[in-house]
Amino acid sequence: MSDTTKPRIGISACLLGAEVRFNGGHKESRLCTHALAEHFDFVPVCPEVAIGLGIPRQPIRLVGEPGRPLALGTVDASLDVTAPLAAYGQQMAGELDDLCGYIFMHKSPSCGLERVKVYRDNGAPQHDGGRGIYAEAFCAARPDLPVEEDGRLCDAVLRENFMVRVYAYADWQALLREGLSRGGLMRFHSRYKYQLMANNPLQYKVLGKLLGTMGRGDAAEIGPRYFSELMAALKRCATRGTHSNVLQHLSGYLKRSLDNADKQEVQHLIEQYRLGIVPLVVPLTLLKHHFRVHPDPYVSQQVYLQPHPENLSLRNAI
Ligand code: SF4
Repeated sequence: MSDTTKPRIGISACLLGAEVRFNGGHKESRLCTHALAEHFDFVPVCPEVAIGLGIPRQPIRLVGEPGRPLALGTVDASLDVTAPLAAYGQQMAGELDDLCGYIFMHKSPSCGLERVKVYRDNGAPQHDGGRGIYAEAFCAARPDLPVEEDGRLCDAVLRENFMVRVYAYADWQALLREGLSRGGLMRFHSRYKYQLMANNPLQYKVLGKLLGTMGRGDAAEIGPRYFSELMAALKRCATRGTHSNVLQHLSGYLKRSLDNADKQEVQHLIEQYRLGIVPLVVPLTLLKHHFRVHPDPYVSQQVYLQPHPENLSLRNAI
């Protein structure tokens, strides 16, 4: 992806302020319309409007088994839009093949990803929640695509994690455009070393072993498996502990370049970060400064140093 190309992100249309809800209203997310809009090319979709339910319309809700609910009208339960919503989810998963992520509206019987209320036939809510019908069909068809709900993006750690995955997905699309090769895959994995160590240290080794089994001509077969496992590994959120470990590893590359006072300052800030006194950006900025003065070719290619645009300021909040 060039610097000027913004990743395309699918989004529930009501989150962008479109008045498409059952009552003619919207659910604008200012995070999406302000902070994120500058960085992403949003593709708004309202599945309920797309399948022909008008605005306004009777609300629908999920009814039945939480794992396999139906989407029925709340006023007229004979209105069953389960099949059209699922078919539209499959259709859009195929048509929107250039997306690098999707932000879904939470709690919606069509778009919600988690814990959407599911009711029994007698109207009482079930204990377990379900997933919106459109979201379920879309995600089943695109299991590697990074997806998140608007509400969860208010959490700084989840937001940063989602952005890491979106840009990793875009990075992978760029690699696919070049054509998969053994060397290209090895270089890709090498660039993700410290990002993976932050998210999921065990999987870094597992994925390395997977690539180690790759012979000449195997890249087309191993590549998609590698990518699915990479995306699953990146889903796990990095912690202060794993970030601190990565920062320590990175500081090791500077041990011959820094004097004792500089080394102590680096260690002090890593410790302050580990203890929750300063955000991640603080020790990282100091490390980046030292790597500018004492460049290291292996470290400079690491995605971990800047996995998403700096002006999203995601590491100021974690
Ligand atoms: S949650 Fe989904 S179906 Fe409901 S109004 Fe928003 S985009 Fe449309």
